Amino acid sequence: MTFNTALDSISTYEAGKPIELVVREFGIKENEIIKLASNENPLGASPKVLQSIVKNVSNIYLYPDDSMFALKESLSQYFKVHTNEIIIGAGSDQIIEFCIHAKANKNSKILMAKTTFAMYEIYSKAIGARVIKTQGEIHNLTEFLECYNTHNPSIIFLCVPNNPLGDCLDKSEIYEFLKQINEDTLVIIDGAYQEYAKAKDSAKSIDPQELINSFPNTIYLGTFSKAYGLGGMRIGYGIAKESIIKALSKLRPPFNVTTLSLLAALEALKDQEHIQKSLQNNLEQMPYFESFAKEQGLDYIPSYTNFITYFLKEIDSTQIANFLLQRGVIIRNLSSYGLNAIRITIGTKEQNKKFFTLFHHFLNQK
Ligand SMILES: *Cc1c(COP(=O)(O)O)cnc(C)c1O
Repeated sequence: MTFNTALDSISTYEAGKPIELVVREFGIKENEIIKLASNENPLGASPKVLQSIVKNVSNIYLYPDDSMFALKESLSQYFKVHTNEIIIGAGSDQIIEFCIHAKANKNSKILMAKTTFAMYEIYSKAIGARVIKTQGEIHNLTEFLECYNTHNPSIIFLCVPNNPLGDCLDKSEIYEFLKQINEDTLVIIDGAYQEYAKAKDSAKSIDPQELINSFPNTIYLGTFSKAYGLGGMRIGYGIAKESIIKALSKLRPPFNVTTLSLLAALEALKDQEHIQKSLQNNLEQMPYFESFAKEQGLDYIPSYTNFITYFLKEIDSTQIANFLLQRGVIIRNLSSYGLNAIRITIGTKEQNKKFFTLFHHFLNQK
């Protein structure tokens, strides 16, 4: 059978390996496996979320509230934006897809960093759009501006902070950049890790309300999958001016987010104490990963997220990733990005210790 030829240039997204796979393939007990591969919150979801799910589980035979009233109200208060400036998706991934379908077509160009979240490219190529990438590894707005001036893209993706490298633009430089972008170009500010960036350095913090009011051609994306600990619930949000939200809403399938996901997000947003605890763990543990890299002579980019990327020299990323996997520690091999690098999610103190110990073992056996 033949398929849409647009698919020929797409490589399938390689997701972090699930715990179940390590149980099946290596016979390691589930409770002994540590997943530091997909930037999930190592403290898990808020206990209040779990209680609320249990309490409401009998409602799952009903379709969800498609207006998503309660969660939109809550996000609207949290971010000081109107409810009609919010869209909810099955992960912010789905909103990325809506943006591309709403704004671009096969004649469009879409601009992004060389090494950034893989779904930007996949969704762009799926509609046959031309992907333009900056040359340098990390986000560099001088390069972005040059590419913008040369190519006049319909969409620009800025991942702030950037997955999988951890680098993060300052708010002030983003604003300077946005001043030079024409109002018909949609600029997507992906804030999947903003909670972590904000906790580390206020200069990196993007306020969605201020962003969209200063630059009406932007959309801010947030997710409940990372700091909020709801990766398994598939829920994220977009904040933009009403005209953009209206366009995206035409593409949103009815009931795209489940009843329990809506509820979980609502409770997670309320429990800011749990978020603070999670951010605290991250701030405390990150320096251990930095010292470890220095001791081992590994390069890394200072990270504003809940993960760190190590650039390897003598070691091969696939070898170390497999070594760890066979011993129950799942990390992310970045070879699919063309890098000899690994990305490790910052875990709890105990989880991180196990990672460091095994990494040492690997080096000693060589
Ligand atoms: C995890 C992630 C997302 C979206 O995750 P969802 O689970 O779909 O909400 C978006 N952008 C980046 C950069 C991410 O790392």
